[in-house]
Amino acid sequence: YKDVLDKISDRLCEGMELPEGMDASVPDRIVRLRLGVYYNVDKSIDIDRRFDRAKMAARNARGDYINAIGTYDEKMHEEMMFRERLLEDFRAGLENRNFTVYLQPKFDIRHDKPILSSAEALVRWVHPEFGMISPGLFIPLLEEHGLILELDRYVWNETAEYIRKCKDNCGFSVPVSVNVSRIDMLMPDLKGIFKEIMQRFSLTADDIILEITESAYTGDSEQIISMAGELRGMDMGFRIEMDDFGTGYSSLGMLSNLPIDVLKLDMSFIRNAFGENRDMRMIELIIDIADYLNVPVIAEGVETEEQYLTLKAMGCDIVQGYYFSKPLPQEEFTKLLEERSRIKMPQLPEVRRNHTSISKALTNDFERIYNIDTVSDCYLEFYSGPRGELQLKADGSSFYDTGIGEITGHVTDEDRDRLVKILDRDNLAKWAKSSEICEISYNKMVKGEPRPYVMCTIHTRNRDENHVVIGISSGKTVGKVSV
Ligand code: C2E
Ligand code: CA
Ligand code: CA
Repeated sequence: YKDVLDKISDRLCEGMELPEGMDASVPDRIVRLRLGVYYNVDKSIDIDRRFDRAKMAARNARGDYINAIGTYDEKMHEEMMFRERLLEDFRAGLENRNFTVYLQPKFDIRHDKPILSSAEALVRWVHPEFGMISPGLFIPLLEEHGLILELDRYVWNETAEYIRKCKDNCGFSVPVSVNVSRIDMLMPDLKGIFKEIMQRFSLTADDIILEITESAYTGDSEQIISMAGELRGMDMGFRIEMDDFGTGYSSLGMLSNLPIDVLKLDMSFIRNAFGENRDMRMIELIIDIADYLNVPVIAEGVETEEQYLTLKAMGCDIVQGYYFSKPLPQEEFTKLLEERSRIKMPQLPEVRRNHTSISKALTNDFERIYNIDTVSDCYLEFYSGPRGELQLKADGSSFYDTGIGEITGHVTDEDRDRLVKILDRDNLAKWAKSSEICEISYNKMVKGEPRPYVMCTIHTRNRDENHVVIGISSGKTVGKVSV
């Protein structure tokens, strides 16, 4: 068959060459044709389904620049059968309540300790035959077949009912965010649907947050932007979290006009920043964008303590991820809620005025920045990499074991004793609480010569009483109060 297919493909491509003078290196201008072939046709199925199979095969050739022809094979067939089964079973699944809503807690990390502040509702399909199915498998399918609104409506209802129950039973709840699909946003009656749900369970717009992915706004998006505006507007008043932020290619100009209340940093940034190349720049950049838009940042997919501590140091406001908790069945989440209802939400340490971000401090003033936890003594060290990237060094060791040694190791003899005394536990704890900037000057040995250096405290975005951030720079004095 191969020859025949190649010939068909060539024939179809005839006339698709670029007109003379057009630059082929501009990606938008290249049209690439893909073919999908479904052999051994099952004649018992109708023509639409046969086309679906060919389309699935064509989709498989996407991104393959050498071979543009995909064929429908056994593996695809199994996948297709599974998808068809899911589609067939979907409505019965809704009726039999085989879908359940799990809740993944989000924690506010602007305080000394993480505090449960909200949750995300994540749907699970407990299929009578296949068991628990992850939404990653069926959400895109339901979106493709125009069924997502039915599921989402169900999830929003279940979520609202759950919040009502918590309020009635323990007199307390936290806001819960629900996912709103791009396709939902195109439904003219979306507002009516939400109004009805809120009324039925006597909830207010403070109880529910809407998560809309950044990519929903890109492309032909006017309708979505105006719907988001209405959902957020006076008569509805929902808060909107921009999900998977950083993957949708919004421009800054566009962002500043979008109706959003929170940026939710896509997980891939955390994966990349803590992978092989420990470059924190993208995360910092997004935190800077959030600052510019004057909205908080949520990081999702936080899996390790190191990630948590670094995000906190960099000024991230809220975190969600396996390190804190997986998505929980409702009964388990209720236990967290009950615990949380017994503590009072502390006031935020201070209005974030006159703060700086770590990357800005590094480019403007400092060579090295230490973020020291005065309770655990652990520290993180930030510095500029060879290409100006924001690098992190963190090994969980105590500042007094290694950090202080690194600082005092290159200092003139007469300054060493003084520095060690100043950098002791009590002083650091005092500095962490002080709103003043504390500054020390000393001499560092550079190529056998003493050179003036300054160390001073920096006020970063997430200041709290347990952390002191100090920066080291050559010569320039930065602060006001000298020690
Ligand atoms: P999402 O909205 O980006 O949700 C976050 C996903 O990350 C969830 O996957 C969550 O379980 C997972 N996750 C949370 N913390 C971590 C972590 O530390 N590490 C890793 N590796 N993953 C973590 P889940 O529940 O499988 O949901 C997948 C996607 O399905 C969601 O991505 C969302 O786009 C969609 N989805 C889930 N429930 C609904 C729903 O009710 N309606 C709609 N329209 N979409 C939904
Ligand atoms: Ca989400
Ligand atoms: Ca997300």
